[in-house]
Parts: sequence; structure tokens; C-alpha cells
Amino acid sequence: MTDYDESPLLINVPKRPKLLVVDDQPINIQVMYRAFSEDHQVFMATSGEQALAICRKNPPDLLLLDVVMPDLDGFEVCRQLKADVATRNIPIIFVTAHNAPDQETHGLEVGAVDFIAKPINPIVVRARVKTHLTLKFQSDLLHQMAFIDGLTRVCNRRYFDERLQNEWRRSSRNGSPLSLILIDIDFFKKFNDRYGHLAGDDCLRQVASALKAGLNRPGDMLARYGGEEFVCLLPETAPDGAMELATRLEHFVRELAVEHLDSELGTVTISLGVAGRPANAPGTPEGLLALADAQLYRAKKNGRACACGEILGKAVSS
Ligand code: GH3
Ligand code: MG
Ligand code: MG
Repeated sequence: MTDYDESPLLINVPKRPKLLVVDDQPINIQVMYRAFSEDHQVFMATSGEQALAICRKNPPDLLLLDVVMPDLDGFEVCRQLKADVATRNIPIIFVTAHNAPDQETHGLEVGAVDFIAKPINPIVVRARVKTHLTLKFQSDLLHQMAFIDGLTRVCNRRYFDERLQNEWRRSSRNGSPLSLILIDIDFFKKFNDRYGHLAGDDCLRQVASALKAGLNRPGDMLARYGGEEFVCLLPETAPDGAMELATRLEHFVRELAVEHLDSELGTVTISLGVAGRPANAPGTPEGLLALADAQLYRAKKNGRACACGEILGKAVSS
């Protein structure tokens, strides 16, 4: 049915969007499957817990969610998905036999985009899903334009600033550690001078890819912090873990073996400043950043192509 994936406005629209259908009655899932399987990838869950696990591991483009289920009901699943930045933007449509107005209002209040009554009319459901998928992909695109660095395709500084504040609060709330790594390419001005600005841009892209490949937890984030500077934000990561990662990232970039004859080392390298907040340590996000900056300065002073790190404040036992 769809031709909306060809609109020039909607780049990155998948040919077969991913739908997750959640219902404790397999028969209801089958009805949805028949309505969508031709031009969508349809994933299925028969409990709220299962739905949450799938959304965290492999977020769908849209969720069709039953309200009444044993254990976790649909409202609670919706609430939990909306509370987590990683799953917040998945549009949720409630599909339920209980279509009393107060239920519908409640569903919309907890963050659903729509509410559909059972038994479903497949044509109506398809039309509504199409509308909400279009909106979702448009909003993803806007989000990308606002938060992605155009040159390297990693997150931009604005996004990092926002995430740092959020992750700091989450770390305080949960008593979990939080670390960050500031990264600066060594002698990059000389690289541009010798190889030209376009080669410099290409080098930035290669370094960004190598850094990204070096992060392996889904919550880890890489952003371009400034011209030839990057930053990694590492939720739930203690300072020693961040230090290990920094060493690995240094090797990753070194192994790219991008020639840099005006660097003492002969290839492009990075220096890294690591700052870690142990669980329950006091301080501020700005303090953590300043600490990483000071450590980056130390790494430069120590001869570059290395990582230096420090622990924020003093851990206070909870
Ligand atoms: P250090 O080892 O002390 O970090 O020296 P450096 O030369 O890397 O540091 P400096 O801050 O003096 O120079 C950074 C250079 O990065 C200067 C600038 O031309 C270059 N740069 C910043 N943004 C970009 C970009 O988007 N593309 C390219 N090609 N170069 C950039
Ligand atoms: Mg710099
Ligand atoms: Mg530099």
C-alpha cells in the first residue's frame, strides 16, 4: 500500500517499518499480523514484560498495545517506555475492547498517540498506523537535523549537553556511577596544513567511526564536542571501566594508521581525558566535564597519544 517512503521529505524511512503487536490473546495478534505482515515487519509479544524487553533491545517504529493483560497492563508498559529516553519516542497505539471514554483519556494521558477499539477494522487500523508512522519518521528526521553532527554523523554538542544533564540526574537518583571521556586529535592543525582541509574532514569521519565502533554498551554515547574534539558519555560506568575504554579507544584510532607525517608519531592519534563519578559521589555535571578537560590537558602534556583520568569527589557510602 505504501508510497510514503518515496517522499523527498522523508529520508531514512524503512521500506518495511517495524511494528510490535502486544496482546495476551494470540488470536488478536494473528488478526494484526494478517493486516500488516505484507508490508511491515511484525514482531509479537504476549505480555507486558516481553514487550518492554523487545522495545529496549530492538525498538520498533510503532507499538500496538493491548490494555488489559495479566501482570503488567498496557498503561504501565506505556508509562515505563515513556520514562526511558531510549524508548520514549516509540509511538504507542492502544488497542482495546474497553473503550470507555475515561480509559481512552487515560491512555492518551500516559503518552499514547491513538486509541483503537476491538474488534478492529483492518482498513482503519492500517490507515491510522500509516499516519502515525509518517509522523514518527518526520519527527525522527527533525530530531536528526537538530541533534546530529552533519560531518561525522555522530551526535552533536547540543545533544550531548542535554544528555549529560539527564544522565547526571539519573546517576544521582539511582546511585549509579557516570563517566565521560574527552577526546582531542593530536596535531590536527598540522594535519590540515599538510594534507588539506578535505583530507582533514575525512580524517574526522574516520576517527568518529573508529570511536563509535569502540563503544559497546547501548547506553554509551559519542558526540562531536567541537572542531576536532569528541566526547563519550558512559552511564553506569565506573571510573576504572572508563579508563579501560579510553585506552582501547586510543588503540582503535592508532590502528586506523592514517598517515600524519607532521606528528611525532607518524600517524593520527588522539589524547583522552577521563573523569568518573563513582556511585553517590557529590558534584555537578559541569565539574565532571572540567575534570575531564583538565585530564585531557595532562594527556597532552604527557606526550599525547595517551589517556589520563581522575575520579570526581569522594565516594560517600549510601
Ligand atoms: P593538539 O595536539 O594540541 O590538540 O594540537 P592541534 O593542532 O590538534 O590543536 P589546535 O586546537 O591548535 O587545532 C585544531 C585544528 O582542528 C584547527 C582546525 O583547523 C582543525 N579543525 C577544527 N574543525 C575542523 C573541521 O571541521 N574540519 C577540519 N578539516 N579541520 C578542523
Ligand atoms: Mg582541540
Ligand atoms: Mg587537537
